[in-house]
Amino acid sequence: MKYFDPHIHCVSRTTDDYENMFLAGVRAVVEPAFWLGQPRTYAGTFFDYFLSIIEFERTRAADFGISHRCTIGLNPKEANDEKLAAEVLEGLPEFLGREGVVAVGELGFDSITAAEERALRIQVQMAMDFDLAILVHTPHRDKYRGTTLLMDILDEMSVDRNRCVIDHSTEETTKLILDRGYWAGHTVYPQTKLTPERFANIFHEFGIERITLNTSADWGKSDPLLLPKTCAYLERRGANRATLQKLVWDNPVAFYGAEKLALPPGCEPFDPVAARATHSKLPGAATH
Ligand SMILES: [Zn+2]
Repeated sequence: MKYFDPHIHCVSRTTDDYENMFLAGVRAVVEPAFWLGQPRTYAGTFFDYFLSIIEFERTRAADFGISHRCTIGLNPKEANDEKLAAEVLEGLPEFLGREGVVAVGELGFDSITAAEERALRIQVQMAMDFDLAILVHTPHRDKYRGTTLLMDILDEMSVDRNRCVIDHSTEETTKLILDRGYWAGHTVYPQTKLTPERFANIFHEFGIERITLNTSADWGKSDPLLLPKTCAYLERRGANRATLQKLVWDNPVAFYGAEKLALPPGCEPFDPVAARATHSKLPGAATH
């Protein structure tokens, strides 16, 4: 089995995580731009963060045999600081055409405010202008209402539903999302969001069509190995390995687009020397 984690926040993870991910079969990841926990107060800190996930994380992942791509966007939580949001949105187009940027996101709703909706609409338009997929974050509170409102806006803007993933779906929303023709992303966490057991129930009800599975591993309690762990659990509950392989590789490749992802044939080679080095020696990485 090889795994593609289509939503993981690698900047928060250690080199040990990368090494363990590689050993467990993870060969590709997409890192969406998101909230860093501490609210930012300058537009420039967003731009530096975008560059670090476009350039530095890609290099760091490659040292461990993992192809790293990213999505760029203003997250919904920080869209509520409206003056700052306007500056960030103005600077976004500069990053959207960069190599390795495969979607706009995470955008969507956090507290479902007018400011969040404004930032969402502007970025959906940017995604269409740049011919990029869209990664939509759904709120943890009021999920059903937030998800419905998000899809109403996306429908109204005539997005290509096949290039739009509505993420962090749960038992409450998967049917709703699939019925409306969007991709449903599922985040497995050790305890909150979905557990492997809860995802298994969704898998048995809906199968794998337009469904993705991710860890969203970040700076909180999360686990970057939950893709292989969830697949092991699904297999124990009777899932067929070929189906699982489609779920955790073919589906994210189909969603982001093989051409856009431009994954190297046979994946990145694992370089034990680079993986052992104190700092990455690949071009573009910090050397000191
Ligand atoms: Zn995320």
